[in-house]
Amino acid sequence: MILGAHVSTAGGLHNAIKNGDKLRCDAIQIFLQNPNQWKPKPIATDGLKKFRAAWSESPIREVVAHDIHLSNLASPKPDVLSKSRAQFQVQLELATRLGISGIVTHLGAHLGEGERFGLKRLTESFDELFETTDAPEVTVLLETTAGQGTNLGYRFEHLRDVIAMSRYPARFGVCFDTCHVFAAGYDMRTAADCEAVFARFDAVIGLERLQAFHLNDAKSEYESRVDRHAHLGKGNIGLEAFAFIVNDARFAEVPLIIETPELKTMHAVNLATLRGLAT
Ligand SMILES: [Zn+2]
Ligand SMILES: [Zn+2]
Repeated sequence: MILGAHVSTAGGLHNAIKNGDKLRCDAIQIFLQNPNQWKPKPIATDGLKKFRAAWSESPIREVVAHDIHLSNLASPKPDVLSKSRAQFQVQLELATRLGISGIVTHLGAHLGEGERFGLKRLTESFDELFETTDAPEVTVLLETTAGQGTNLGYRFEHLRDVIAMSRYPARFGVCFDTCHVFAAGYDMRTAADCEAVFARFDAVIGLERLQAFHLNDAKSEYESRVDRHAHLGKGNIGLEAFAFIVNDARFAEVPLIIETPELKTMHAVNLATLRGLAT
């Protein structure tokens, strides 16, 4: 299995590789820029070189980027939409220069305009980005969401529709977040539930699109549409789901990334839990 964690880039992007190595990760996820700011701090060529050098010397196989929190590529507001597109373009270019092949992004929020409107606008955003950005190797990994407020992406059908409406369906993969899917109303508490959820995913989207997992237990309740991550085995999903995923041969080559809280002290514990579940 390809086991990993979301790690900090404090002090420079190359430190993310060190943080991942310390945890014996096969994969890491990082923010390429401060997730709460629109304007990225430019990364000097030296910083890019240091990152690539550190990565090439590390056993880490996969690095995925995560979009910033402010981004709303489905927004009905022209200013937010153009800022979201501009920053995503920067991230696509940066990912290319870093050799990162996937950027995880949420589907954004329609803010009252309706789901159809939001999904169409999101698709237009990606079409424009793919046309205007020279980043042919970078896949956009649409993340399943909990569906808080007017957020899109809490039904597998939303992701399917964006991919189907796009002029560039080959540019998309999916990131499956266990906490979000559970909070959205797909039960995963037993192995039989997991079997049914992945069968449903396969029927609607196709398992070949599933290119990353976020393995998070849920502090939020089933079907609550609330996004609160818990440590593995300490939330409302429980360990059976995680045992199912780590031992399923279909996911042997899919990065399994934890995004649980208290990175510094608890990442080692949560990764040990997953390693312990592998049979
Ligand atoms: Zn996410
Ligand atoms: Zn979340």
